[in-house]
Amino acid sequence: MFVDEVVITVQAGDGGDGCVSFHREKYVAAGGPDGGDGGKGGDVVFLVDDNLNTLVDFRYKRKYAAMRGADGGPKNSSGKGAEDLIIRVPRGTVVSELSSGRIIADMSGDEPVIIAKGGRGGRGNARFATPTRQIPKFAKPGFKGQRLELKLELRLLADVGLVGFPNVGKSTLISVVSSAKPKIANYHFTTLSPVLGVVRVGDGESFVMADIPGLIEGASDGVGLGHEFLRHIQRCRLIVHVVDVSGSEGRDPIEDFKIINGELKSFSEELSAAPQIVAANKCDLAAPEQLERFEEFITSKGYSLFKISAATTQGTRELVLKAGELLKGLPPIKTFETAGLPEWNPSELSDDKSFEITCDNGVYAVEADWLEGIIRMCDPEDYESLQHLQLVLKSSGIIDRLEELGVRDGDTVAVCGLEFDYIS
Ligand code: GDP
Ligand code: MG
Repeated sequence: MFVDEVVITVQAGDGGDGCVSFHREKYVAAGGPDGGDGGKGGDVVFLVDDNLNTLVDFRYKRKYAAMRGADGGPKNSSGKGAEDLIIRVPRGTVVSELSSGRIIADMSGDEPVIIAKGGRGGRGNARFATPTRQIPKFAKPGFKGQRLELKLELRLLADVGLVGFPNVGKSTLISVVSSAKPKIANYHFTTLSPVLGVVRVGDGESFVMADIPGLIEGASDGVGLGHEFLRHIQRCRLIVHVVDVSGSEGRDPIEDFKIINGELKSFSEELSAAPQIVAANKCDLAAPEQLERFEEFITSKGYSLFKISAATTQGTRELVLKAGELLKGLPPIKTFETAGLPEWNPSELSDDKSFEITCDNGVYAVEADWLEGIIRMCDPEDYESLQHLQLVLKSSGIIDRLEELGVRDGDTVAVCGLEFDYIS
């Protein structure tokens, strides 16, 4: 199955925690603080991989997380930064933030793009030594890595898009003019995913052709498969409209032509205004008068017509040469304007300072994601460390809330699992 739209969550790595440590050496009584900084968390990086042509892998794995940076160590050793998480996507994948629709990246080029930034490491206690505080017994937790819910949309990159009714010979055409080997069969909707082929024009000259399946009447209203696939031609520079001129399926080629162009138009004005040439296919089966009538109609509308037989390759070379020539004068493949990464203020405390307090058997349990790093770094034996925590609990409104709930001196308060006796 062809998957071209998915929603995933990416989580860049958190920074490692700073370390609390003191220099120890024989015969040196009280060494100074030497706790190193935590390492940076891994970024989430997107990279184009031309071996991929759908987003199907993302259907089965939706959550991606880069590693956390290593914690700092004694002797001023900094924690190692975590490796970036590389996520491979097909060329033409447009990455946007789900909530805002903001386009973060258009993965059309070969440059890797950072999609979510890893958190910085927390500072070790060596950094907090001042003349008045010579024995800092605390360090800082690492900063949070960026977390984003993303929408990925595949918008194929091709110079030439083939359009036309099912069974007119699109897959046959791409198979004879390019290296692509799509399924060819005499029934509708054989092509369920777009096929890209490189078409050689001359010395070192080539273009990319896309066989986009499933265009049928009513496609632009969401009938059948058409609508989904139409968006893939949005980026094409030139449309090659393939028509079965022999009417081998009992339809009128002129009607076919009008219907498909009507579909393009109702899908997007821009698409219907794109340069288009017409390939009258199955000429080997067509009667001369059929061909003549069709040619007259097409040229009267101002289109260039190529009489071809994809099955016998007759006329296909001329079509390819003409497409190559036209492309030289056409603008490059459209890329989407990107707004870059959304704002991210990596705070060691996340912006969301919400918390939840439950009281059970006289124990007040405080739970908050953002507090976990602070609790992890808190040394209950150390006065300064507790003072810092006290400050945080006060400023975030947790103390007020506890008092509202009726906490009294001597009650047990558990903050993210760390238990204290409450003293007002
Ligand atoms: P698509 O649905 O547009 O991709 O059409 P296909 O390429 O799968 O072709 C549909 C059928 O038409 C297949 O049986 C092909 O062998 C046949 N066909 C394609 N091109 C020609 C042609 O030029 N002449 C004849 N006689 N048959 C053709
Ligand atoms: Mg096909």
